[in-house]
Amino acid sequence: MSRQTPVGIDLGTTFSTAAWVDESGRTEIVRNAEGELLTPSAVMFADEELVVGKEARSATTIHPEMVAEWVKRDMGLPYYSRPIHGRKLPPEVIQACILRKLKGDIVRELGRVDRVVITVPAYFDEPRRKGTADAGEMAGLKVLDIVNEPTAAALSFGETLGYLTPGAEPKEEMTLLVYDLGGGTFDVTLLRLSPGKIQTIATDGDVMLGGHDWDLRLVDYVARRFKRLHKRDPREDPVIINRALAAAIDAKHALSARGRTIMHIEVAGQTVEVPITRGQFEEMTADLLERTTYTTRQLLAAAKMEWKDVSRVLLVGGSTRMPMVGEMLRNLSGMEPDHTVNADEAVARGAALYAAYLLDKESGDEARAGLSITNVNSHSLGVEGIDPETLRKKNVVLIPRNTPLPAKFTERFVTRSENQRSIAVQIIEGESSMPDECTAIGRTVIRDLPKGLPKNWPIEVTFEYAENGRLTVKAVAPGTHQGATLDMERSVGISREGMTRWKQPIDEAAGFDAFESMIQEVMEPSADDHDEPTTPEAIRAMQADFSGPVSGPSRPGGWTPFVAGPRSPEPEPETSPEQDDESLVADGTHRVKSVARPSFPRWVGLIGHVIAALLGLALGYMILCRLRPESFPFPW
Ligand code: ADP
Ligand code: MG
Repeated sequence: MSRQTPVGIDLGTTFSTAAWVDESGRTEIVRNAEGELLTPSAVMFADEELVVGKEARSATTIHPEMVAEWVKRDMGLPYYSRPIHGRKLPPEVIQACILRKLKGDIVRELGRVDRVVITVPAYFDEPRRKGTADAGEMAGLKVLDIVNEPTAAALSFGETLGYLTPGAEPKEEMTLLVYDLGGGTFDVTLLRLSPGKIQTIATDGDVMLGGHDWDLRLVDYVARRFKRLHKRDPREDPVIINRALAAAIDAKHALSARGRTIMHIEVAGQTVEVPITRGQFEEMTADLLERTTYTTRQLLAAAKMEWKDVSRVLLVGGSTRMPMVGEMLRNLSGMEPDHTVNADEAVARGAALYAAYLLDKESGDEARAGLSITNVNSHSLGVEGIDPETLRKKNVVLIPRNTPLPAKFTERFVTRSENQRSIAVQIIEGESSMPDECTAIGRTVIRDLPKGLPKNWPIEVTFEYAENGRLTVKAVAPGTHQGATLDMERSVGISREGMTRWKQPIDEAAGFDAFESMIQEVMEPSADDHDEPTTPEAIRAMQADFSGPVSGPSRPGGWTPFVAGPRSPEPEPETSPEQDDESLVADGTHRVKSVARPSFPRWVGLIGHVIAALLGLALGYMILCRLRPESFPFPW
């Protein structure tokens, strides 16, 4: 069998890149059909065909109803936040369209594509990782693995410095801080690099911060100048916004190289020339940069480290080309940021190196078999439990954030009632102590518990988180000789069958009609099941938690997990009229509300109603007496 070519894909928020490893072990970047190394992550669903890349990006503001951009920010949600042709599309499907374009470019360059590694931000949670792997599959790619972007960047760095070369002379251990500022997202990660070994220490970031926010500040600046001169806001016209945005990006890039530039903006034959200096640009965006400074400081604090413990600061992502970034990090860390890796390409190259490592390992080639990669989990994982004291829902964290992987933790719970026959465990991800503020990622149910178990029977829930970020949950009732049935239900995502169906329009790069019929066939029957927020505000609210404070979870014992009463083998629908209090327990939401409600005997309520009615009568009588005293025999 001929050698499989290792391929890595950086599926970025703004740009995507593919790289491969040649026979000699060197990484190369795949050039796209347009002759460029970076492909804009934009998809245009035109009537006749699917267009991905530069052309789609140019059409963004002219045909916003057709173009999807920044889709990576919406991964993990059931639908992309902006409707396309008025219809809701799953983000995985749109990401698959980008991957399909990259696949075409890889095949053009290499003749074929075997298996690929795709990168994701370290802060991506489980549904978003799985969604990315699903997107690869829908694009017709065989996904070897998903790897974290900072790990890929560190691999690229390690390879350049000879840390990954088997048999090279021993090198000392280094602590790397990878500062990645792309177009739409920011993340920062601490890693430990030693020969043949990469270990993530901690990670943090901001999913709503990137180079695009810097562009928008420049757009606002020229728009205000234009308005002052021509009494008209150019931002009212989408075509003009598009032009202003393009001018802003050019100006921003120019200001990375020079101290001043001129932005031109033309509206209905009137042109304004707006000169701008680097100093002005830095001043108008200082708060954006400050947000990255804050997150970087938070990360060091979370890892209980100081700058003296950091050996190198690696700059990754196109926006780190802005001189203000290097300067800020120089002042903050007291060291010169490292430019060893190419900010645009390091992630894709590292992913290709990881693919090479996995393929070599699989084929029994010992050359790279010594490489070891350790990740941490970027969000706390737990289950929705009930505080026995307050009877309120509580996030019982099993694997706290930034725990090295693989990790395995077991927590003990108890049943809530006598003769309980099944237990439902809701798995959640997030830092908040309130489950409603976390992301529900799945549910597992133990059924067929033996009859007659007393109340407070122990239930052990074990979370096993593998290196690749996959989670296995086991729930057992010790002492019951009955094999517990385990069902893992993913809360979001496309079914296997749905994925197979989506493949066709994606593969054919078909016009929107083909996608629309697929929406009707695959999505709509279950659309009501996913009544999740799709407005940008709601999404922001959902995604805000990952940049929140790192809180140490408290784990007092004796929590009651989802405890279901006797139930049929198949879960009953939530709205089933015959559900009693116990079966509502399995769902969580209703149960807690009903349990937490203060319960008075029924007659207390009845007496209350009678007293209220008498008081009402007396009051009415008094008012009438005041108004027409002559009609009433009473003296007051
Ligand atoms: P992502 O990981 O989000 O896909 P990239 O790492 O490709 O993003 O970075 C894209 C961002 O980098 C864009 O906002 C782009 O304008 C910005 N960028 C690229 N080159 C420069 C430069 N020379 N100066 C300033 N910003 C740049
Ligand atoms: Mg990136």
